[in-house]
Amino acid sequence: MTQPTYHTADLSGAGFLVTGGAGFIGSNIVAYLLRNGARKVRVLDNLSTGSLANLEPFIGSEQLDWVKGDIRDLETCQRAMEGIDYVTHQAALGSVPRSIADPLNTHSVNIDGFVTVLHSAKSAGVKRMVYAASSSTYGDHPALPKKEENIGNPLSPYAVTKLVNELYASVYSRVYGFHTIGMRYFNIYGPNQNPEGPYAAVIPLFIEAAMNNQSPFINGDGLNSRDFTYVENAVQANIKALLAPELSQHEVINIAVGESSSLNELWEGICSKLGIQRAAQYREARSGDVRYSLADISKARELIGYDPRFRLSEGLDHTIEWFRKAYEK
Ligand code: NAD
Repeated sequence: MTQPTYHTADLSGAGFLVTGGAGFIGSNIVAYLLRNGARKVRVLDNLSTGSLANLEPFIGSEQLDWVKGDIRDLETCQRAMEGIDYVTHQAALGSVPRSIADPLNTHSVNIDGFVTVLHSAKSAGVKRMVYAASSSTYGDHPALPKKEENIGNPLSPYAVTKLVNELYASVYSRVYGFHTIGMRYFNIYGPNQNPEGPYAAVIPLFIEAAMNNQSPFINGDGLNSRDFTYVENAVQANIKALLAPELSQHEVINIAVGESSSLNELWEGICSKLGIQRAAQYREARSGDVRYSLADISKARELIGYDPRFRLSEGLDHTIEWFRKAYEK
């Protein structure tokens, strides 16, 4: 795939901090910045769910500054801000089920860690901080498509942490004039997403099952739907949000495609791409899961010129290709 570009500015004078840069979304942002000549890309990550293997093509690059550390540690965050113009904060403990199993740890990383990064970025006078918010913030609000201003009650500890992130970012904007942009990601998938472990996301699980000719589990009846979003779209959103003109307040935008598919459709699609025919296994619906999800992405289009280039079918093709290559290694 030829690499698209999402910016016109010269990045050779700019320093970027990517927290969680050894994780799935973060490492894709790091790759974009390094391929496009950023002066410095610093990664702050404690490798709790991420892996240095995701940064492997860039290890040894003078532009990459790797810092192993915890976002809950103020001194670490303060040091990580030195010489940095732009911060994209991706580090967090993802997964609704993980937060139900271990709410205290999710709270600690996602809220204490978030405020520590936000406060350090504000105090260091960085130009802009973009952060990973989540579609889980829509909670039990029934309206479709999801519009940024209509949120319901959170359905999981994870959703609470992501809502609190937005509240803190909004308060830092009002009180200190530090304006940030939250990306409410809708089910991101693609290269570097981990298929292993109890909290793996559905697309890597389905692809791995299909490649091994196995039947994956579907929680519930398979009619739950999601606005599945290829990671390159999220990279585009981060780059455009980081480099967009000056903001006058805190903003939150949906990052998705604006199309939804059910889990049954997703499984059928993956099977047909891999040329197999296999039924999924169904089990009880999971608590904390929303039933249907679909984003209205008009605010992101207007605010930062976001224009998702990858729809589900093409995104799945690239993801399957990545899994194939990963298996060959
Ligand atoms: P990921 O687990 O692959 O990446 C998170 C990274 O943060 C990992 O590398 C991990 O080691 C690091 N990290 C965790 N705790 C840390 C700590 N205390 N200190 C330093 N680093 C720490 O997850 P991802 O899917 O890339 O998610 C990135 C962000 O996007 C997260 O904030 C997540 O909540 C959010 N998000 C993701 C999705 C999705 O569909 N993947 C959807 C909505 C929101």
